[in-house]
Amino acid sequence: MKFELKNLTRNCSDKEIIDEIKRVDVIVGKELLTRKDYDEHGKITSGTIQKRLGGWQKALNVAKLGHKYSGRTVSEKMRKQNKNLTDKEILKELRTAAEKLDKNYISQEEIKDNSEMISASTVIYRFGSWSKGLKKAGLQLSPYGKRFTENEYYENLLNVWTHCGRQPFLREMAEHPSAITPSAYESRFGSWRKALEAFINKMDKKDDELEQKEITSVVKEPEEEIKKISVPSEDRHEIKLGLRYKILSRDKFKCIKCGTSPATDPKCKLHIDHIIPFSKGGKTILDNLQTLCEKCNLGKGNRHSK
Ligand SMILES: [Zn+2]
Repeated sequence: MKFELKNLTRNCSDKEIIDEIKRVDVIVGKELLTRKDYDEHGKITSGTIQKRLGGWQKALNVAKLGHKYSGRTVSEKMRKQNKNLTDKEILKELRTAAEKLDKNYISQEEIKDNSEMISASTVIYRFGSWSKGLKKAGLQLSPYGKRFTENEYYENLLNVWTHCGRQPFLREMAEHPSAITPSAYESRFGSWRKALEAFINKMDKKDDELEQKEITSVVKEPEEEIKKISVPSEDRHEIKLGLRYKILSRDKFKCIKCGTSPATDPKCKLHIDHIIPFSKGGKTILDNLQTLCEKCNLGKGNRHSK
């Protein structure tokens, strides 16, 4: 292979170069063959090709790759990749197009209809990839990306988990009561498996570790931070996600009074209840918390259940 590479690079004819561009173009299979994509598969470097044929655009023209672009010639496509545009101008155009859509994200499909100045290739060609371009423009990397916080992803997963009474399947994230789509999980965590792993990791963390994480995440609001540090979690009414998961798992996602669960009764809503009410000094700790269905919980009011 090494020999072949050297041989092609040093002694290749123009025809060999053109054949190589065409070969890689078929492999890549995109509307426009960018240098970056080419270099992943090409045996002759794009640098050599540019030197030999006087530029990447010329090389594509010589290879007559314009034919396959329905109605558009290479040069017209390339005009959209306009070299005269500065990085700043391209990024500004990206933001403007996203604004037109009233979003903080734009897809490669959407840029086609929302920009006269640039195409997806312009961005990919200039910044290396579509998401790198979006990042530089200060846009979101996915339609879901920052719409939810990490904690909201976990909260929602726990809701669905509770609803199913077991670890949910990805498709179930598309159904009630999930508020976040399957693809959002996949794009946020890389895959459903990774999302579940991250969730379990988070749930397994000790409370003080969770605490620490939360404190570092609210550094923007120093007053809030001080409040959080000064009140230990067992003296707060709020039941942290990890603790909630532990209680639900311990109680098998069922009401410990009547045994109903959302998995068997869709109307069933599970609450985490303070056994000794918080208002009467009950702590927010594992031993003072129990899983109750809405009915049993509301029936209970503030009376002690033991
Ligand atoms: Zn019940």
